[in-house]
Amino acid sequence: MARPVQYNTNNKPIEAPIALAKGPEGFAGEGFFATKLNDVVGLARKNSIWPLPFATSCCGIEFMALMASHYDLARFGSERVSFSPRQCDLLMVMGTIAKKMAPIVKQVYLQMAEPRWVLAMGACASSGGIFDSYAVLQGIDQIIPVDVYVPGCPPRPEAVLDGFMKVQDLVGKESLRRRNSERYKDLMNSYGIE
Ligand code: SF4
Repeated sequence: MARPVQYNTNNKPIEAPIALAKGPEGFAGEGFFATKLNDVVGLARKNSIWPLPFATSCCGIEFMALMASHYDLARFGSERVSFSPRQCDLLMVMGTIAKKMAPIVKQVYLQMAEPRWVLAMGACASSGGIFDSYAVLQGIDQIIPVDVYVPGCPPRPEAVLDGFMKVQDLVGKESLRRRNSERYKDLMNSYGIE
């Protein structure tokens, strides 16, 4: 007997061939390939980012769509969502952060090992959004440094993917020395982080 509802009955052709991640630039010869350590480490890091979702409200629902099969963040090597700050690379803050919760967000950030990155998803995490009130933090960059902001209320999963790919760009191009530089230390000190 036919099923009352039929779906996925049409085979969709693959629009583009599946491609491997592009390798770094370098010199290739017979049996050898030479490149910069920086580029190799960047390539490995950018394709294996482990995110920590810090979701407090509606943007978190959009994140669930991002992880589900249609948008599938796993395609970027990020299927392993970490709920332990010590085993993740990217803090994704999504939702309204009340001032009462700000110290918790900061504590999670501090428990992450370097190198760590931060993505602010949606208007609330980026700027307080529509909640211009005494109780709501007007952007998480008041307490921790943010690498990428994704606008929208809520941002669509495509927008979050775009933000995620911008993080990948930053990760891939980051110098191995950046975290030891005076400039980075100054940035951390400006947030009261040693
Ligand atoms: S940005 Fe909009 S959708 Fe996201 S948490 Fe704030 S109110 Fe909700």
